Amino acid sequence: MTDDLRIYIDEAMALAAEQLGKGRVADYIPALAKVEPNKLGFALALPDGTVHTSGDADEAFSIQSVSKVFTLAMALRRVGSSLWDSVGREPSGSAFNSIVQLESEHGIPRNPLINAGAIATTDRLIDGRSVDAVAEEIVDFMRTRAGDDRVAIDLDVAMSESETGARNRSLSHFMDAFGNLKHPVETVVGVYFRQCAIAMSCRQLAKAGLFLAMEGRDPLTGEQLVEPHRARRINAIMMLCGHYGNSGEFAFRVGLPGKSGVGGGILCIAPGQGSIAVWSPGLNEAGTSLAGAVALEHFAYAAGWSVFD
Ligand code: GLU
Repeated sequence: MTDDLRIYIDEAMALAAEQLGKGRVADYIPALAKVEPNKLGFALALPDGTVHTSGDADEAFSIQSVSKVFTLAMALRRVGSSLWDSVGREPSGSAFNSIVQLESEHGIPRNPLINAGAIATTDRLIDGRSVDAVAEEIVDFMRTRAGDDRVAIDLDVAMSESETGARNRSLSHFMDAFGNLKHPVETVVGVYFRQCAIAMSCRQLAKAGLFLAMEGRDPLTGEQLVEPHRARRINAIMMLCGHYGNSGEFAFRVGLPGKSGVGGGILCIAPGQGSIAVWSPGLNEAGTSLAGAVALEHFAYAAGWSVFD
């Protein structure tokens, strides 16, 4: 089986490589714009802890919105189902930073994976603590999941996120106006900008996501991080909302829950099978990695991994 997986990875990577140069690298901050566009990495973490990699799988990149999956799990651990008073569970069908639905829906964001929803989720995770304390908790969580202390926040990226963060601040003030933030806007975006600026490699990210493939249990530490039903629900949200206005297309093509980030990373969960992280900076219109999605599509198809089987 392992030999087959290696063949599927090699084939998927060859097809993905044909997409290199076609997408558009995120350029809203200089630190992302200067990334070499032709990078392509793939890592598959299996429940026994082995990791199969290909390409630039050990190079750290900005995980950006992939962080939203982890802060969602952490917020659910901390405040439980009351999180759903602050954020919904419906796909948005709109862009990552869209504000339009917030007005008609009284400041409650559609889901935890669009920016507004991730900001509301981070607000609940803060639970009265300082920006530094919460950012440290998030990085520690990622380090432990990845089994690697090198995971860190890229401070240049974090600072640029803040300097160009007018839109995310607007979303936050808008939610605050509806009484849907429990902490000051600058505290909440302070954590949000840092979580987006975490730098990880595909290998680290695939290992970090493994608990979502294993009913909430981290097979590396043996810890039950979230209850099995919560892991299932996080996967459901990733499937329906993980790629903003492109979520239907990703579900159609890949058939597995995934979450994109504008740094070009995608985390993809195959329940019971493993966790996959891909990275290639060229993005489609919705901010999903073009080559990364192609690699996942072909790998999932060849391996026969789909939640719809
Ligand atoms: N830092 C980006 C933002 O908040 C993340 C967007 C994304 O990765 O989709 O605008």
